[in-house]
Amino acid sequence: MPDSTRRGLLIILSSPSGAGKSTLARRLMEWDDTLSFSVSATTRPARPGEVDGKHYHFIDESGFKLLVTSGQMLEHAHVFGNFYGSPMGPVSEAIEAGRDVLFDIDWQGAQQIQKSVLAPHVLSIFILPPSIHELRRRLENRGQDGEDVIAKRMLKSWDEISHWDGYDYVLINEDLDATEARLKTIIEAERMKAAQQPALMDHVRRLQSEFEDMP
Ligand code: ADP
Ligand code: 5GP
Repeated sequence: MPDSTRRGLLIILSSPSGAGKSTLARRLMEWDDTLSFSVSATTRPARPGEVDGKHYHFIDESGFKLLVTSGQMLEHAHVFGNFYGSPMGPVSEAIEAGRDVLFDIDWQGAQQIQKSVLAPHVLSIFILPPSIHELRRRLENRGQDGEDVIAKRMLKSWDEISHWDGYDYVLINEDLDATEARLKTIIEAERMKAAQQPALMDHVRRLQSEFEDMP
């Protein structure tokens, strides 16, 4: 059940490709079924096992451009030769219902959301790999990209890493369970921020009237 007494957070996870953000996002979704995952639209082809509408909305370039020009994208970017963007509709719906939305997006998208009207409700987290050697090993072990795609992602990894300090929190994903536990701690704490709890004002007013009625 979403908690209608609080505002939804926009939880942004970014990292260089292969550092583990999709794995962490999956674990967070299993942990809390009130979280909504922002399913991005992309022009990149689906990887084996990826489901249209669940992992991404796989669309062509003209469909993507139409979503952008009609103002239906909260943010969008060109990454590794393909277009990616977060459709606005499901995000607004979830936030208004007090549900947090999880984004797996790059630094360009994170910056756009951080500059939007939704900025006060953004929680941004950057995931770093323990080493570049380990980053490559994870991309190879994932076994979903060819050598040329892996090389392209490795070349771009420094560009992504160089934006680490634009985020609220930075985690080094060495041990997966430990990183997951830290993420949950951060989310639980951020949910308690005064700006996320509009119902606090009513509660304080009730406390005040009880206080004034005291004999
Ligand atoms: P990203 O979404 O950042 O591109 P993934 O979540 O797909 O990365 O992770 C890349 C690979 O690394 C996957 O095979 C995943 O199982 C593995 N992985 C993720 N985190 C860790 C970790 N802490 N230790 C070892 N392997 C990991
Ligand atoms: P992948 O092709 O590995 O799924 O994603 C490649 C990169 O694009 C990752 O850094 C991922 O976070 C980013 N990405 C995925 N969806 C979006 C999106 O909607 N907007 C932006 N800006 N980046 C995205």
